[in-house]
Amino acid sequence: MLNPFYDKFIFTSNFKYRGSNFFLLDLPVAISPTAPLARISAMDNKAINEALYLSTKDATMEDVIPLLKLDFKSRFNNSLKLFENFLSSSGWGEISMVDVYPRKAHAIITVKNSPIASKPKGNPKNPVDHILRGYFAGVFSKAFGRDVGCVELKCAALGDSCCEFIVKPAPEFSRDKPRSMRQLPKKTP
Ligand SMILES: [Zn+2]
Repeated sequence: MLNPFYDKFIFTSNFKYRGSNFFLLDLPVAISPTAPLARISAMDNKAINEALYLSTKDATMEDVIPLLKLDFKSRFNNSLKLFENFLSSSGWGEISMVDVYPRKAHAIITVKNSPIASKPKGNPKNPVDHILRGYFAGVFSKAFGRDVGCVELKCAALGDSCCEFIVKPAPEFSRDKPRSMRQLPKKTP
């Protein structure tokens, strides 16, 4: 027994070890120490943050969602729940999509025990979970059928009790909030 999510995929032979790689359905995954990603995130370099965010967002839309066979048109709630379970069960922390408003293309997500934020290197001055931001921007862009951005407003690395993320169309983020503007790329959300 690992956790209910992976147990189900193992039981149905949809989680496989083949050629020294793991596959969840057809999605390649790896069990990896979190320390290298935590170190990269703690550098707090704007270009690196943006690369982590945008590459995760694009990979989520183009690779992860199709290979996990998520279909938001016919199974909106189930697909979001499966993605939430996938991240939580893969060790990214306890993900809760607490509020989802498809008509406005808004969402609020909390994460307890983010492995990137739990033991930050140094003394971060800004939120560190750019990879999680990318996952949320990607999955909700697909789910809502329009491009949205994601900003981390609270982060455990800064002493907050959990991490909190806001998803909405990029032009709706306040231009006068430095924390939001620092996290969003200038041209694309
Ligand atoms: Zn965080």
